[in-house]
Parts: sequence; C-alpha cells; structure tokens
Amino acid sequence: MRLLTILRQRYPHKGFVYEEPEFVERDGRTVIQVSLRPRKGSRAICSGCGECGPGYDCLAERLCQFVPLWGLAVFFAYRMRRVDCPRCGVTVERVPWARGKEQQTEAFAWF
Ligand SMILES: [Zn+2]
Repeated sequence: MRLLTILRQRYPHKGFVYEEPEFVERDGRTVIQVSLRPRKGSRAICSGCGECGPGYDCLAERLCQFVPLWGLAVFFAYRMRRVDCPRCGVTVERVPWARGKEQQTEAFAWF
C-alpha cells in the first residue's frame, strides 16, 4: 500500500490535495516530505472568523511535522494562502491539519 493512499484515506482534508510523498535531506537526515496544495476552485478560510474569503497572496512554504513512519520524520509542506477578509482584513488561512502557528500537525501532537 502506498503512503499517498493511506494519507488520502485516513487523513483527507477537504479542499486540499496531497502530492506524491518524496524523500528529502533535511539537517543531515532523510525525511519524508508530503506537499499539499489547495484543490482547484477551493477558497481559503479566514483564520479570524472562519468564513471563506477572496485570496490575497501566498506565503513561503512552511513545514509541519506529521506522525513519523518507520523512524523517518514526516513533514507536510504547504504554502499558506492569505485571505482578504471583508470582516478581519488580510489574514492567514485556516488549515485543517494544524492550529494557528503550530509547527506540528494535530495528528503528530496526539502521537
Ligand atoms: Zn475573517
């Protein structure tokens, strides 16, 4: 069974798509990196009020630690969108796998 299949089945995120996981060298060790991107046509959710808003721009790619596999660290990589919210102004979007500025996914925190 492929890692991508497990992620799609066990950790689906509405409005987001997983890319093919890859091995990456990070700080002298091999890790698994899984990039995510917004599903085509999905709108970003304002982290302030939870409403969908028009896109503003994208931030630099950020890593978020996920549950390790066979001793290998696993990271989600994603470029957060900013939302031009009519209520809150320009805010960073809310993503379902992490809370606020956490560098870990909620799944990793539970683990
Ligand atoms: Zn808002």
